Amino acid sequence: MGRLQVFNNWSPFMVNDAGKVWLGLEYFCNVGDELWSKDDEAFIQFAIDELDMIGIINKADVADATILREEKAYPSYYGSYGQFDVLKNYLKQFDNLFPIGRNGMHKYNNSDHSMLTAMTAVDNIVNGITDNENIWQINTEEDYHEEK
Ligand SMILES: Cc1cc2nc3c(=O)[nH]c(=O)nc-3n(C[C@H](O)[C@H](O)[C@H](O)COP(=O)(O)OP(=O)(O)OC[C@H]3O[C@@H](n4cnc5c(N)ncnc54)[C@H](O)[C@@H]3O)c2cc1C
Repeated sequence: MGRLQVFNNWSPFMVNDAGKVWLGLEYFCNVGDELWSKDDEAFIQFAIDELDMIGIINKADVADATILREEKAYPSYYGSYGQFDVLKNYLKQFDNLFPIGRNGMHKYNNSDHSMLTAMTAVDNIVNGITDNENIWQINTEEDYHEEK
């Protein structure tokens, strides 16, 4: 398991019944690998066993579970990524185009960065700024907070 979250702690609006605990488990994998290809029921049992093993739950308490497999969840910096500037500079030709967000910029932005790119784009539009460089500069100099 990569990460675990308790949706009840984010917002009551994220859960259907606040009287139950809603857990989200993230497993990082690639399309076609061993985890990705695991049968749904086997995967759910594997996840329940992991939660039980680390003492987060008692497996007998599990009411229900589901799996979502998300392709292309992360922007990957390989292949032709070294030539990314070719694309970025091409897009800069268009004065009324403002690439923002994670997939919009193919950049490993977190939620805060993504919102900041949107806010900066709005500021640019309002102030008649057509050069998007200030948007591309978001998330370039900060330390990456998830690294050890
Ligand atoms: C597994 C995982 C864990 C993460 N954990 C964290 C975390 O702990 N903290 C954090 O800060 N960030 C985290 N992130 C990153 C965060 O989710 C993203 O940075 C953020 O959601 C990007 O926002 P966005 O608006 O750019 O894109 P998104 O949130 O991806 O929104 C894009 C929207 O556009 C829609 N869309 C796509 N194509 C079309 C189309 N053609 N027409 C109409 N709609 C379309 C999509 O359905 C989607 O709703 C995580 C990401 C992943 C994948």
